[in-house]
Amino acid sequence: MLRCTFCGRGAVYDRRYAGTLLCDRCLIKSVEHRFRRAVAEHKLIAPNEKIAVAVSGGKDSVVALHLIADYCRHKNCEVVAVSVDEGIRGYRDHSLPLARENAEQLGLEHVTANFKNTCGATLDEIVKAARRRKTRLHPCTYCGVMRRSLLNQAARGLGADKLATAHNLDDEVQAIMLNYVRGDFARLHRLGPIYQPREGFVPRIKPFREIPEKEMALYALLRNLKVHLALCPYAGSIHGEIRDFLNNFEVNHPNTKFMILRMFDRLKPHVAQALPSFSIGECLACGEPTSGELCKACELLGGLGFKRRKRLILSEPK
Ligand code: SF4
Ligand SMILES: [Zn+2]
Ligand SMILES: [Zn+2]
Repeated sequence: MLRCTFCGRGAVYDRRYAGTLLCDRCLIKSVEHRFRRAVAEHKLIAPNEKIAVAVSGGKDSVVALHLIADYCRHKNCEVVAVSVDEGIRGYRDHSLPLARENAEQLGLEHVTANFKNTCGATLDEIVKAARRRKTRLHPCTYCGVMRRSLLNQAARGLGADKLATAHNLDDEVQAIMLNYVRGDFARLHRLGPIYQPREGFVPRIKPFREIPEKEMALYALLRNLKVHLALCPYAGSIHGEIRDFLNNFEVNHPNTKFMILRMFDRLKPHVAQALPSFSIGECLACGEPTSGELCKACELLGGLGFKRRKRLILSEPK
């Protein structure tokens, strides 16, 4: 039997990038330690703050909800779980009950923002309309833009000081590589442990960006958390190609993902300098903050004949 490098118990995980083996207890301790270290190092959560946690019911967001709720209990912070129902039949309707169940288990308030109520269409309807019009945009483009905007609107409406998301190391490194490939300085600049945007935006924090996806999954499994494991039917696109490339590369060259992350963190101050200055106003259609006349969500929805409502409707769980 392979033994844990730290305590000698039976190992459950080969942390190849560090050359160590971990037992269940040491893996759990390590994930919790990295989360707390990131919070302390980047000053992500201050005492008495209100933290909105984006939770879909998937493994990463459920782990995030449990760890943030536990941490905040000791810091006198308030935590609210915020879900977005994009309207993906056979997928999101299965994951949201798990988001709700975990929030209830932790005694947290849980609210849901709904694409249909706010954007005038579910993601399934948006995708159908986009295919009819033969736009070349992938469903994840519509989904990502609307979801980010709804989460910000919900967090702001709840009076949250921060919006926490469960992005793990794999997510963050994929986003770095994708924005390099696209040459997208503006999006590259938004990556990092904390993004303090301009007025109208709630600061976004990512306390899990130094924890590999596999370790988040194993943590959920070892702590017996109730999570939704299915894959979104729209998953794919260039994100998938970059993920596969990075995973294959990591097999032959362990630690690649951490190296990309560290390199990006060193380059980030220079990325900020390369950005043109811009001012923030209100979207003419929905009133949300934007640097143009229309926010990206209204621009995308308008192109398909849908209209976003001015007011966000938050529903309490049934
Ligand atoms: S895979 Fe794409 S469409 Fe599915 S939930 Fe994620 S961003 Fe949305
Ligand atoms: Zn151990
Ligand atoms: Zn708008």
